[in-house]
Amino acid sequence: MILQGIRLADGEQNVNVRINNGKIDALTSVPIAGNTADLQLGFDDALIFPGLINSHDHLDFNLFPQLGNRTYKNYTEWGAYIHQQYKPEIERVLQVPLPLRIRWGMYKNLLCGVTTVVNHGEQLIIDDALITVYEETHDLHSVGFEKLWKLKLNNPLKKHLPVAIHIGEGTDEAASIEIDSLIRWNKWRRVLIGIHAVAMTGKQASSFKGIVWCPESNYYLLNKTAPVHQLKQHTTILFGTDSTLTGNWNIWDHIGMARKTGLLTDDELFHSLNSNAAKVWKMNTGAINKGKDADLVIARRKDHAAGFDSFYDLSPADLLLVIHQGNTRLFDQELLSQLASGLKGRGFSLIRINKVHKYVEGNLGELMEQIHTYLPEFSFPIEFIDHQIL
Ligand SMILES: [Zn+2]
Repeated sequence: MILQGIRLADGEQNVNVRINNGKIDALTSVPIAGNTADLQLGFDDALIFPGLINSHDHLDFNLFPQLGNRTYKNYTEWGAYIHQQYKPEIERVLQVPLPLRIRWGMYKNLLCGVTTVVNHGEQLIIDDALITVYEETHDLHSVGFEKLWKLKLNNPLKKHLPVAIHIGEGTDEAASIEIDSLIRWNKWRRVLIGIHAVAMTGKQASSFKGIVWCPESNYYLLNKTAPVHQLKQHTTILFGTDSTLTGNWNIWDHIGMARKTGLLTDDELFHSLNSNAAKVWKMNTGAINKGKDADLVIARRKDHAAGFDSFYDLSPADLLLVIHQGNTRLFDQELLSQLASGLKGRGFSLIRINKVHKYVEGNLGELMEQIHTYLPEFSFPIEFIDHQIL
């Protein structure tokens, strides 16, 4: 596939990209001459960027509504509160079989142009994943909720994996003390990637390879977020949504909120969603360069906005094409005639999102129906029209 004449979201120039065997094979400023077998797509006024990397989600928790009704001091207070106040609601969602919940979690991400998600929790068994679910991590829930965390942290069988842990998710002293405790007990200097870090100082941050910033979740729970303007001097900042227990399904909403804080520059926020995340997790994606996995998003540029404004203005309705490892996973209806012959025999769902029509791989209607047999009240953010074999 050759993509011609698209503007880099983080630059001013137009580029042309060739994809071959799931990888980016060429990136040029002059049009690429293909042979007749190559599918060529030309765009005017479109943006291209690496498929987003969501560095923190719990794929199986995305059928929950936001739970909570006030500001909490820390995650243990919130956890105890919701298990007491929302017991029936939680049980209802957990009745939905795990494979269905995970599949919806993947679609939640894909619909927004996320092509890689770092899942937190038990290792998942997923066949035919539509996006990369990255699990090369040693996950500990948190100092407060993970039993025997000191032993698990230093588990010699997991020493090659980075430890991903919720840390410092609070505004009180306990949240700050647990960070010191984790650092002190990291006897074998495991690579630490901390999630949330609301209570963290710059000095503490220097003990972490990366910090996953989840501003929407932080504001919902704590009415405060991590001081990433300070932490970024000492570690690498990545971006995460967490699950819908504490945030909107749509990562663009989270990104907009993050930008408004002004704690990262536009450039830093952009790279927290792609190349910096890829570097910290050691993934071969997150950049539009020869040899990288072909994880790419092309989106409609609105109102000729200049610079980063056109990227930060996006929403799921603006996505024209989402490519994951060279495979077309989602496209706007206006590309159907050009893409159909190359996708022959593959099943896609026609959906409506904010009044525009998209095709997304797989039978989303069937999934929605199955979920509705357990949870009829769940309201999906998209409307399913039909499933088609192209
Ligand atoms: Zn989490």
